[in-house]
Amino acid sequence: MLGPVILAASRSDRMRRLISAAPVTKQVVDRFIPGESVTDIVPIIEELTGRGLELTMDVVGEDITTPEQATAARDAYLALVERLRGLGLGERVEMSVKLSMFGQALDGGHELALANVRPVVEAAAAIGTTVTLDAEDHTTLDSMFAIHEELRRDFPQTGCVIQAYLFRTEADARRLAEAGSRVRLVKGAYKEPAEVAYQQKHEIDKAYVRILRTLMEGEGYPMVGSHDPRLISIAQELARRAGRKPDEYEFQMLYGIRSDEHLRLAAEGHRMRVYTAYGTDWYGYFMRRLAEKPANLRFFARSMLSKG
Ligand SMILES: Cc1cc2nc3c(=O)[nH]c(=O)nc-3n(C[C@H](O)[C@H](O)[C@H](O)COP(=O)(O)OP(=O)(O)OC[C@H]3O[C@@H](n4cnc5c(N)ncnc54)[C@H](O)[C@@H]3O)c2cc1C
Repeated sequence: MLGPVILAASRSDRMRRLISAAPVTKQVVDRFIPGESVTDIVPIIEELTGRGLELTMDVVGEDITTPEQATAARDAYLALVERLRGLGLGERVEMSVKLSMFGQALDGGHELALANVRPVVEAAAAIGTTVTLDAEDHTTLDSMFAIHEELRRDFPQTGCVIQAYLFRTEADARRLAEAGSRVRLVKGAYKEPAEVAYQQKHEIDKAYVRILRTLMEGEGYPMVGSHDPRLISIAQELARRAGRKPDEYEFQMLYGIRSDEHLRLAAEGHRMRVYTAYGTDWYGYFMRRLAEKPANLRFFARSMLSKG
């Protein structure tokens, strides 16, 4: 019940001001977003890759209102690529981007987002890595998939995300499960209406398994984005049945969530990629993490009360 309320709050400017200014917020935020700048994040990249993990880096900041902010987002990713170049980690560290941050919701947003994201994808390719386009709310997805298709003409390794809670996703998965494609499947983190999305956890989980089967049996490279132990076992079984070797799919989890499991899967010989977010505009990302697990919200609320 709490999840949808928190997701509604994630769109509220008043809540953003209140929560961002609370004295204890930073401590709780650090669990999920372990740095504000590229300089903060380099030691984390070195530590996690040193432990056998792979990464996908996200510069947070989706709620932009001007084209200048979209340009700044592009430049933040280019600065990250520059730092990654020095580390020489290639595809072990890729990037995740939200097209909203590149201007997708502004006037002429589709073209603007494409123009801003293309140089990031080019720069990533030049250092031997790639970019995955995150999936945001359902109204943005036709544009995201069109940009994905456009980018793949020159950079076929560009990935995208599909969300199991949406009715449309089974068809998207069939279209995307082709040779050379990279597709991350997640349950979905936005507040979506019953006209377009399953609302019950058991329905979402069942859809996740159906879609995962399509991806595993297809020709592309599936990226299993979930912390759900049941789905992780099912993914291993589906991969085995589809005759996939450990380097023909990967698991992905978020930084700060089930970290022991990241290391366990990597130690078992799986490719395990940790989605690691950093930056100052963390509000939307943080609120989605609270919404996913009510215990996070209770912990946050208790910290506010005890310090407040
Ligand atoms: C790598 C990655 C990339 C993602 N990219 C996108 C995207 O582009 N678009 C999108 O809509 N969504 C994205 N998500 C979020 C996703 O949609 C889910 O909201 C999120 O992963 C929680 O679902 P779950 O599969 O982990 O299963 P759940 O059933 O929600 O969780 C399973 C278990 O994982 C643990 N867990 C899950 N979430 C949390 C949390 N926040 N805090 C503490 N423990 C937790 C709990 O132990 C829980 O019981 C991404 C998720 C991952 C892992």
